[in-house]
Amino acid sequence: MTAWAIVVAAGRGERFGRPKQYEEINGRRVLDWSVADARAACDGVVVVVPSDRVEPGTIAGGSSRSESVRCGLAAVPAEADVIVVHDAARPAAGVALFRAVIDAVRAGADGAIAAVPVTDTVKRVAGDVVVSTLDRTELVAVQTPQAFRASSLRAAHAGGGEATDDAALVEQAGGRVVVVPGHAANRKLTEPGDLAVLESVLR
Ligand code: C5P
Repeated sequence: MTAWAIVVAAGRGERFGRPKQYEEINGRRVLDWSVADARAACDGVVVVVPSDRVEPGTIAGGSSRSESVRCGLAAVPAEADVIVVHDAARPAAGVALFRAVIDAVRAGADGAIAAVPVTDTVKRVAGDVVVSTLDRTELVAVQTPQAFRASSLRAAHAGGGEATDDAALVEQAGGRVVVVPGHAANRKLTEPGDLAVLESVLR
């Protein structure tokens, strides 16, 4: 089975203040940390970047994360039967986590996603008023990498849907998505303060 990765790095970094995937951590760009893991675990990698920052070996993304994934899908060869999607903004995922999600798909799932238990209590709110308290034993916090049977991922994206991760689209299409253990160090670079934490993780 041939596994390809799509590393999505076409965000504008609106919450961070600048395109966070180009920050350097320990002498290497966030994007390049992510791509290195993907290359080590997969047969090929498609790197999706902002349209004004296309460099050799990368392609232009779209105006939403889902659009950027679809740009990547168009560049993944038809022979790939497993496709892994990874946020460039998670530079500390590690090769082992890529292999774990790929293996779970090879074992028969339509999708396999990295996730960790929720340790905070989570409540549903309407404005500043609490509506209900969720049972956290039933919840996980989801990361990338996320691996999919290529046909499942392509079909899930065919309708042009929007979601904050790819598993949501595969779930909506009726796919069976399983969870593999992620890890706390696999944090998404979201705020400038995350840089120091990732620096120590990647040292
Ligand atoms: O904004 P957020 O941190 O959720 O973005 C997750 C990943 O999706 C990032 O790596 C970001 O670069 C990527 N992205 C993208 N195209 C967009 C928006 C986000 O590739 N239009």
